[in-house]
Amino acid sequence: MLPMKIRIAQNAGFCYGVRRAIKIADEALEKNKSIYSLGPIIHNPQVVSEYEKKGLKVVESIDEAKNAILIRSHGIPPQIYKLINKKKLECIDATCPFVKEAQDYAKQLYEEGYFVVIIGDKNHPEVQAHIAYANYQAQVINSKEEAKNIQAQKIGVVSQTTQSVDNFVSIVSELVKKAKEIRIFNTICDATEKRQESAKELAQISDIMIVIGGKNSANTRKLFEICLNFCKKVYYIETKEELKKEWFYNVKNVGITAGASTPSWLIDDVIQAIESIDNDIH
Ligand code: SF4
Repeated sequence: MLPMKIRIAQNAGFCYGVRRAIKIADEALEKNKSIYSLGPIIHNPQVVSEYEKKGLKVVESIDEAKNAILIRSHGIPPQIYKLINKKKLECIDATCPFVKEAQDYAKQLYEEGYFVVIIGDKNHPEVQAHIAYANYQAQVINSKEEAKNIQAQKIGVVSQTTQSVDNFVSIVSELVKKAKEIRIFNTICDATEKRQESAKELAQISDIMIVIGGKNSANTRKLFEICLNFCKKVYYIETKEELKKEWFYNVKNVGITAGASTPSWLIDDVIQAIESIDNDIH
């Protein structure tokens, strides 16, 4: 039997915001051997553990931090900046500029009297910060059904940056029917759109899709869900250790994609492991 063809999605792995956050953390750790990160630097346990070894300690609250605190790409509510100032901590801010833009829009919509609707996952730290910027007067929804329950005449919309474009469009089309006036900021970031588009394209021509990323990564989960719509066999893994030989029986085309917080070394590890499975079974 011929060996498998392994293809990697055109856009996969670290996005601009994550690469930037990692660079900011590296530069800060060169100057200061002990820094605190408010929540894991990215949603990838392997990277977080690497950085813990370098001196980046994860804390859940400002009270646990000393000297310097790193703000990850997801951003934080404005009140937390005030606490950081009050505690006189050095603030190493790695909030992604695209996330900052969405926060600014949430604030603007609230101030202009719109009923703020945030499309996304209400438990995600990025969305929590958006809510805070809208002065906690926002409603978070994630489906067309939830959009049907919104009762407002003047609606302002922003999105979690990693939202799927299709879901965003479907929710917005429902909101349009509700409002007399609607202002929509499409804050889905380019990197997300491109990654989702290439995952979709690759899933359509693959017998199996392997989606690599932290199980706590929202954007990786979205990629997994998108691939499920276009490919019969889709597996979501964090590391090569989770791969199973039997997944690849009778498979000709393997597609690989990875979330925005998945480093290239983890992707390379998985490719090598699949190549060795291929040698074993073909
Ligand atoms: S996915 Fe987009 S918005 Fe989020 S960190 Fe990456 S570049 Fe920034």
